[in-house]
Amino acid sequence: MRILVTGAAGFLGSHLTDRLLGEGHTVVGVDNLSTGDQENIAHLAGEPRFQFEQHDICQPFGADFNPGALDYVFNMASPASPTEYLRLGIETLRVGSIGTENALEIAAKHGAGFLHASTSECYGDPLEHPQTEEYWGHVNPVGPRSVYDESKRYGEALVMAYHRYRGVNTHLVRIFNTYGPRLHPSDGRVISNFLMQALRGQPLTVYGDGNQTRSFCYVDDLIEGILRLSRSSEHLPVNIGNPTEFTILECAQAVLEVTGSKSELRFEPLPQDDPARRRPDITKARILLGWEPRITLKEGLKKSLEFFTSKIAAGS
Ligand code: NAD
Ligand code: UDP
Repeated sequence: MRILVTGAAGFLGSHLTDRLLGEGHTVVGVDNLSTGDQENIAHLAGEPRFQFEQHDICQPFGADFNPGALDYVFNMASPASPTEYLRLGIETLRVGSIGTENALEIAAKHGAGFLHASTSECYGDPLEHPQTEEYWGHVNPVGPRSVYDESKRYGEALVMAYHRYRGVNTHLVRIFNTYGPRLHPSDGRVISNFLMQALRGQPLTVYGDGNQTRSFCYVDDLIEGILRLSRSSEHLPVNIGNPTEFTILECAQAVLEVTGSKSELRFEPLPQDDPARRRPDITKARILLGWEPRITLKEGLKKSLEFFTSKIAAGS
């Protein structure tokens, strides 16, 4: 297949690209490098089945860049960490709306399949726990996080509309917190922050009292789930994430154990509207896709160490 991956220089987009190339497909990667890093795809420089184009998907395809015939589009482009989407608020709203519409248009034009990277953030600060796909969420539509949450919720509506009105073979994945090598060391997400801090012997910055929870999925497990969904006949959203839930204090403890670091904890204020808990109900993915994650948090942290150690060695 000839596949377009938007956000290909990002954390998830680059892993997805590697996996697709490994399966023998041809990949056209586009990215505006706003939060991504070209280093994530530097190893693909000599790969004849990979083409990279620096392109903002808020610009229509065909104007400055025409990707050619396509069989599938993976729409991964969007700032994803709270630090980055708060810095790029309007760009985040635009990529989830105009950018996603442009990506859907090119899929519709070529009769290509389409998968959109949505998020557990669609559930906001959830009142139901764990979160099933049927839960409509509890989102502050005007708070600071709304630039991301509403961009993603609008994106879901747009994807469903292209399926219902234009017959595009669409798929929606609600991704829960995912980590691994290539997670940007300074984009502020909890695993990258804690690993970098622990490896440098600096205090681990715990926001609030650290009793809020997240459920962390290792990147290889997530990519497997996304690929299975892309080949399924399900059009409604599917949660992909690891259902094992940790408090942020437990996460800090796991990072200290895996790194052997003696770093202390430093408590800092909790950001506004920071969700109190998050845990996917993955029954739907288990039944429809035969998928469940295999890698525990400690195993995944160990697999991530080399990348973060090399970033420190390189001066990050
Ligand atoms: P990332 O920031 O590493 O990757 C996103 C990529 O999109 C970056 O390379 C960035 O430069 C690119 N991009 C942003 N705006 C663009 C635009 N207008 N045109 C072209 N490229 C653009 O983040 P990630 O963690 O790899 O996230 C990938 C996708 O998965 C995002 O859509 C994100 O919302 C979603 N997601 C990720 C997680 C997670 O835990 N990693 C959780 C939920 C959802
Ligand atoms: N967090 C933290 N210390 C950090 C970074 C994040 O305690 O250095 C907390 C944050 O407040 C949230 C959780 O860890 O409760 C996950 O944050 P992240 O930014 O990784 O993702 P989110 O799920 O909030 O989008």
